[in-house]
Amino acid sequence: MNFKPIPNKFEYLNWQEIESIAKEKRSTVIWPFGAVEQHGPHLPLATDSIFVDDIISEVFKLLPADIPLKKLPTQYIGFSPEHKGFAGTISLSSNLITSMIKEVGGQLSEMGFKRLILINGHGGQISLLNTAARELRSFSPGMAVFPCFLWSGVNGLSELLTKTEIEDGLHASLAETSLMPWLTDDFSKSGVIGDSRGANESLGKNLKELLINHWFKLIMNLMQSDWPNNS
Ligand SMILES: [Zn+2]
Repeated sequence: MNFKPIPNKFEYLNWQEIESIAKEKRSTVIWPFGAVEQHGPHLPLATDSIFVDDIISEVFKLLPADIPLKKLPTQYIGFSPEHKGFAGTISLSSNLITSMIKEVGGQLSEMGFKRLILINGHGGQISLLNTAARELRSFSPGMAVFPCFLWSGVNGLSELLTKTEIEDGLHASLAETSLMPWLTDDFSKSGVIGDSRGANESLGKNLKELLINHWFKLIMNLMQSDWPNNS
């Protein structure tokens, strides 16, 4: 058999591996969320999804291989009603996203997973994921749910970016434009994004390092802790 499993990816494992990982004391699933919405003429629709997927994949390269943390496939299509006027934007309703998180989360909890990290790359759905996490917690009290935003709480970000850019959710901003060429994704390496007007090479590199370091430390701390300490 030529099938080569990718150990960090939930969907590449077999059911017996999931069964045994889920039983571990600190078993955790990380589920990235992005969007498919207009990002100006210079960035692809899936910019937010590509970023969150790439940063988390990079973080996994630094994490020890034996921790009970698995990544679900990134949810590319998100909640983008404000961009519906642009061709290419696809937006799911808030009810559908909330239900999806509850259904998937509920099943992960039934499997025995203790914690679920919802990592979000799209500024426009922060409150929606927070609400979904609260509902999921009441629905599946045995599993801790941690919703977070890729660009939030990152030390050093305010030194690299302007306050307005951060407050505006970084949508199609200098930060996103500069980061795109630094991704490991095949798409960014293919040269499809030839027109990254205003992109700043060193800014992109610094942003990528900052994001990877931040999420590596946070996830590592989480995996070494007994959070949420209620067992
Ligand atoms: Zn964006």
